[in-house]
Amino acid sequence: MTHASVDRERLRARLEAETERFVATHPRSAELFQRSKTTLLAGVPMPWMTQWAGPYPVFAEQAEGARFVDVDGNEYVDFCLGDTGAMTGHAPGPTVGAVASRAARGITLMLPTEDSAWVGEELARRFGLPTWQFCLTATDANRFTIRIARELTGRSKILVFSWCYHGTVDETFVILTDAGPRIRPGNVGPAVDPTETTRVVEWNDVAALEEALADEQVACVLAEPAMTNIGIIHPAPGYHDELRRITRDTGTHLVIDETHTICAGPGGYTRSHGLDPDFLTIGKPLAGGVPAAAYGMSAGVAEQAMRLPSVVETSDIGGIGGTLSGNALSLAAMRATLEDVLTDDAFERMIRQGERFEDGVRAVLEDAGVPWHVTRLGCRVEYAFRPTPPRNGAEAAAADDPELGRYLHLHALNRGILMTPFHNMALMSPATTEADVDLHTEALREAVADLLAG
Ligand code: PMP
Repeated sequence: MTHASVDRERLRARLEAETERFVATHPRSAELFQRSKTTLLAGVPMPWMTQWAGPYPVFAEQAEGARFVDVDGNEYVDFCLGDTGAMTGHAPGPTVGAVASRAARGITLMLPTEDSAWVGEELARRFGLPTWQFCLTATDANRFTIRIARELTGRSKILVFSWCYHGTVDETFVILTDAGPRIRPGNVGPAVDPTETTRVVEWNDVAALEEALADEQVACVLAEPAMTNIGIIHPAPGYHDELRRITRDTGTHLVIDETHTICAGPGGYTRSHGLDPDFLTIGKPLAGGVPAAAYGMSAGVAEQAMRLPSVVETSDIGGIGGTLSGNALSLAAMRATLEDVLTDDAFERMIRQGERFEDGVRAVLEDAGVPWHVTRLGCRVEYAFRPTPPRNGAEAAAADDPELGRYLHLHALNRGILMTPFHNMALMSPATTEADVDLHTEALREAVADLLAG
């Protein structure tokens, strides 16, 4: 059963049955959704919150560790974990304690605190880049890094990989089509056509990368070290060496975005695979879910950046900033999270559960004879509707099947399991147990059997 050969009639019938079950067990969420529609666009705080598998979103009540409870009293094992923002587990004790203590002593001052020195030292130790700055979101970390790279090189263009996602960064919404680079569908109100600012190549295509950087017009390549936002796509053997060689040869800065790939280990993919980027960006789980992000730079980049008046002297109006960036609360939360939550021990446990999750899914797929595949990066696991791992974004995007995905997600949700929307991704927190993982395995077994039955 390839995804194209799924019996659509049966799939729709199963989806309908799951929708009825969802509606019957989520009346209070329905009520709150109706109420919110009177004042919130689409009835939610942000439009992407409508992208869940049910007819309306589950309204959350409380969350702790790997679990949360909704306003109807349903309990879930959370494999979405705030799409990595809560990879630490929800409400991690040390972070909660540090937040309470710091909040009572001042939340934001536009002044550094001792925590900023500690966090800078820790990030340098973990990722190997010596110099750091802070902001509130990974999007901003990427935007600011791109600005600095453009300023340092005097080049206007950047390069990204087709079907990447790096946050709401204007320059990144470009995909490669058979007819060449195009604006990614759905891009809202771009200031300029991003194909003017951005070159785009497929991940793992060395020749295309070499060609795109050859004229030395590109300020930086912005890359996840393994793609994670169109499913997980690992780099082919040797690809990172080539990426680094070509960027160096052409004077192009290499920005590695570790926002999701921190799932690979305490120092992200960069540390576990010995990468040597010019910039590194990270956000999401860095402060246990408190808004916080950081970008690091090599000694050479930092030295050049310090000499630029636009980076230091005019920093209040230079396009890099944010009044709340680097606030005392975020820094305190980062310190506690790095010191006591996202520890080496925690990663060992998380990755072990990731392996169990992967093994479980593989067994289900093999037992059912379904030609899908499962991939893992540290404590992040993904299954996709094609027999082999994709090599690039185009291949991954071609295997997308929103209807099938919706059924699997809703089936899981109705059995107390939350998966990451948009794709079949699961993330393990330090609090995730073997029983949590096995609950998903058995639910997936049932979902696939239901689909094949008849
Ligand atoms: N980088 C990557 C790799 C991401 O996946 C995301 C968000 N999914 C971001 C950056 C942006 O994060 P945020 O929305 O928190 O700014």
